[in-house]
Amino acid sequence: MGVRVTVHGGNREIGGNKILVETGDGGVFLDFGKSYTIEDQFFEVPWNPPFHIPSLLSVGALPDIPGLYRHEPGEHRYAVVVSQPHLDHVGYVPLLSPGTPVITGVDTKNLVDIRLESMQTSWDSEIDHLDWQLLRTGGAVELPDSDIKIIPIHVDHSVPASYGFIVEAGGMCIAYTGDIRMHGARPDLSEDFLNELRAKPVDILLCEGTRVRPAEDPDIKFLQDMAANLHLRMGGDIPQPVQVDCATEHDVRDALEQTMKDSHGAADPIDAEVYTKGREKWEQQLVDDWTAHGGDVYWGLDGRSELRNMAEHYVIVSPSCVGVLPELAYRAHPCDVTFVLSKSEAFNEEMLISFDRMLHWLRLYGCNEYKVIHVSGHASPADLQTVVEAANPNLLVPIHTRFPELMTPWHDSVRVPEPSGVVDLS
Ligand SMILES: [Zn+2]
Repeated sequence: MGVRVTVHGGNREIGGNKILVETGDGGVFLDFGKSYTIEDQFFEVPWNPPFHIPSLLSVGALPDIPGLYRHEPGEHRYAVVVSQPHLDHVGYVPLLSPGTPVITGVDTKNLVDIRLESMQTSWDSEIDHLDWQLLRTGGAVELPDSDIKIIPIHVDHSVPASYGFIVEAGGMCIAYTGDIRMHGARPDLSEDFLNELRAKPVDILLCEGTRVRPAEDPDIKFLQDMAANLHLRMGGDIPQPVQVDCATEHDVRDALEQTMKDSHGAADPIDAEVYTKGREKWEQQLVDDWTAHGGDVYWGLDGRSELRNMAEHYVIVSPSCVGVLPELAYRAHPCDVTFVLSKSEAFNEEMLISFDRMLHWLRLYGCNEYKVIHVSGHASPADLQTVVEAANPNLLVPIHTRFPELMTPWHDSVRVPEPSGVVDLS
């Protein structure tokens, strides 16, 4: 048998990557991510979440491969490599059977651990039963008793410790981008990956295509119509976005710094005390490291009752602003606030409803405009074509995209995975 490639997740969906590369001697999954697209169709957190492995198998969120999972462990046939800490790439790893080799970067594993330490854990988050094998760029792993070798090369993405991989399997060279961008904080990392692709005779390139979409995307149109209706419901005085043009992550940093300087809060940091109450160990470490490098931290996620006073002096960084805004508004409003939105636009209905809630809170504040300072974690279509040119593969396989056909003009031999996930390599 030659090499087989099956895209069990990440086929016509953004995320949920589970790409099986098999030879006669063994196999490896490139990522084992959570399929948000499928889970959202059947489950709803917290009311009816998936509650065990069979519930995920039954809706097709997991590939139905006997022995792969911890509820019915069998012979270990497959290793798993993890390209980055985002759940759409690592989220189903905890479900794998005991002893499954999981190969990833040293800091990728650290970030997975940090999530476990800092977030609520559940039946689907335990990872100590796995055989973690950690490596860095420059290292490589040969799977025992097989003809498969894994070579990780760092790339830049919206989370640190992200990797692309070159997999040498059954005499073939398969390159996998993971999630990649060229306009991030460390474009040199992605460039290292591209240079490695240029140096290798790549047979198959598995290339992400998150931002590949048609000019008239029906889903975007649907969300725009929904947003317009929500605005109509709000009546007047809807907080307006002020887009700050940013091409790179460096632009984002500069724009954020300028915004903080211009706002009242950062002008007088002298008497600002670092807020430590209730801080987790990893948070304290982060703060110590950051301040040791000359950074200032005004980070208040705990001690909500103090937030009202702090708001005059502090920059409050919150992954979920809806958790912080109510407390501020509850104390006093209107309240002089500079609000920066630094995250991707809503890409589904639930996110749009959350966003609408945020607009209500901002309006309650008397905040009639907010700044949008953000760049994507993913390469533009033009930059992805540079990746394809660098790899110059025999076959291009689009993954992690809703519109794989739109990548067919990029190369004379593009293979869109079949609905079953099988990739025709002939
Ligand atoms: Zn992803």
